[in-house]
Order: sequence, then C-alpha cells, then structure tokens
Amino acid sequence: MSKKLNIDPINTWIKNDSDPLIISGPCSAETYEQLRETCKQLKSHGINLMRAGVWKPRTRPGTFEGNGEDALKWIADIKEELDVQFTVEVANTSHIELALKYGIDILWIGARTTVNPFSVQEIADAIKGTDTPVLIKNPINPDLSLWMGALERINTAGITKMGAIHRGFSMTGKSKYRYVPMWKIAIDLKSNMPNLPVICDPSHICGNRDMIFETSQKALDLGYDGLIIESHIDPDNAWSDAKQQVTPDVLSKIKSDLKVKTKREDDKSYKHLLDEIREGIDDVDKEIVDIISKRIELVKKIGEFKKEQDLTTFQVDRWNEVFKSRIDWAIEKGLEKDFIEDLYKVIHLGSINVQNKIINKKKANSKI
Ligand code: PEP
Ligand code: MN
Repeated sequence: MSKKLNIDPINTWIKNDSDPLIISGPCSAETYEQLRETCKQLKSHGINLMRAGVWKPRTRPGTFEGNGEDALKWIADIKEELDVQFTVEVANTSHIELALKYGIDILWIGARTTVNPFSVQEIADAIKGTDTPVLIKNPINPDLSLWMGALERINTAGITKMGAIHRGFSMTGKSKYRYVPMWKIAIDLKSNMPNLPVICDPSHICGNRDMIFETSQKALDLGYDGLIIESHIDPDNAWSDAKQQVTPDVLSKIKSDLKVKTKREDDKSYKHLLDEIREGIDDVDKEIVDIISKRIELVKKIGEFKKEQDLTTFQVDRWNEVFKSRIDWAIEKGLEKDFIEDLYKVIHLGSINVQNKIINKKKANSKI
C-alpha cells in the first residue's frame, strides 16, 4: 500500500557538492589517526559527508566492537577541523543520546536493527522532537514491509529528514554478492514511497572492492539518490570489513568514472521518442496479457480433465520438459536464461493454482 511520508528533499539537509551524492568513510572508526587521515583525503576529493561505525554490530563476540564514546570525541574534533558532516550507526537510546551530545549530523539505523520493531520504536521515541536526520538500512532479511514499517515509525515520530539505504539481503545459497541486492525490493520501496530518498550501499552488497564500481553504476542507472561507500587509508588492514573497503584515491576514481543519468525526461527533446517506444511497450503488454489468458483457458481445460481422471496437478515429467524446452527457445531468441527461468516458475505456479482450484472445487451434488 502506497504511503506518502512527510519528507524534506535530501538536498535541504545534506550539504553536498558531489554529483552523485557520495557518503564515505571507514566501516569502523579504529583510531583517531586512521579516521582523521581517511576523512582528510576524502575531503580533498570533494566528499563532505563522512560515515564511521562507532558501535559495531558483529556477528560473533570477541571481535572489534567499536570505540564508542572515544570515537565520538574524535569525530567531533575532525568535524570542526575539516568542516564536514558525519553519520554514525545507532541502535538504542544511549547511542542516540551520545551521538547527539557529540553533534553527529545524521544517524543511521543498521540492518540488524531495522528487523526489530521494538528497537526501531525505541529509536523513534528517543529522537522524537530533535529534527535529526535518519537513514534507515534495509532489514537483513528480504522483507519490504519491515523496511517500510521502520521508515513509518521514524516518520511518525516527526522526523522529516530521512532516507533509506539499500545494503542487500542475507540469503542462503551461493552468490557473487555478500548480501544479495534483490533490486526489486528497493524499486518496490520507491514506488510505495515515491518521495523517499534511496541511497545504495554497494560495499555491503558486494563484500569485495572489485564489484563496487559496477554495482554503484547500476544503482545510479536505476535512479538512486546517492551512494554510501566504505573507505579506509589501509583497507587490507581494516579491523572490520577489510575486503570491501577502498582507499580514498580509489573512491575518487570510482566517483569520477560513474555516469549520472538524468532523471527528468519531460523537458528533453527525446520525450516524443520515449513516448513512442512506451506506446509500443503498451501494445506488447496487451498482447502478453491476452496470451496469458489464452494459456490459462487451456490450463483450466487440463484441470477439468485431471479432476475427472483423478490425476495430481503437478506432473513432474511434463514440468521438466516444459521448463527445459522454454528455456532453450528463449536462449535461441537471445533472452537471459535466469530471466526466463524466473518467468516460467511464476507462470507454472499460477497454472498450478488455477488447476488446484478446479480440482478442489466440490462437485455441485457432492455431499462432502
Ligand atoms: C556498516 O555500515 O558498517 C554496517 C554494519 O552496516 P549493515 O547494518 O548494513 O550491516
Ligand atoms: Mn561495514
């Protein structure tokens, strides 16, 4: 369900000279020198909004869990010296009190906190009335409602300077990503909350520095409002997330290689061309819907037959044959294998549901 949040445009609360907007800094504030040097170099590359973890949510205990209040003191000094803004992760009331005491500009809610409505509500209650900007990462599990719920709780607390961070989702199975992006969830978020700024976190999505550029470019192509990328003066020796951090110099190269596409289409000369192509897409979509409805009619016929013959809805040999041949046909047409596999899984599930309804419908004169 679409929900209009009361949100201030991002350029009214983030001082930003860089296009695209890039937030950068280390995964963790490790030492004063490490943080200051990283920020100094970032600033020289035109980055004005720094990130740093002060309390680190580590999966297992016994690893570095952040420098807490000491790191906030370093941040306050560095902010004054370099005239930059800072964002840090907060997860409870005492984090918020301390972050605000040291003048942190923007708070962020981490993926492991967004999953818990009690924690999000605690944060919402603690920042009520402060007008502090808040960025909310997606929950670690792929659940759009939880993400929206967290955004609504913060907005309902009167926070209007807010945005979402897409950092990918924890999934089982092999993937080239550390946290699978599942772009559709972020796109659905944007269509449900159109005025919400959405920032991509390619560092946590990728989990390795080599894929950061391509993932950032993809996010910009999808119209994201900015990027948050981890950087460190000595990434390989970072105390957390070493593989995914880049040096400020590499970050600067990424920034200059990225192409920012225009989001506004209406005042451009290619508007009529776009309209023409879209009309073509509308026609094709009508045909797709017609064809699907024809397919469903045939599926219903088979459903009636299976009902009469007492056959099960799912016939594994037939399905394997359908699945394989459709993919072969699609590959011949130059379509992506993954795309057609996903599409056929949905079509098959829809067909099974239609047949199940027919098979389970009681005969008009049946007593049970
Ligand atoms: C981080 O940004 O360093 C972090 C811990 O993020 P996430 O909540 O996305 O894991
Ligand atoms: Mn990190």
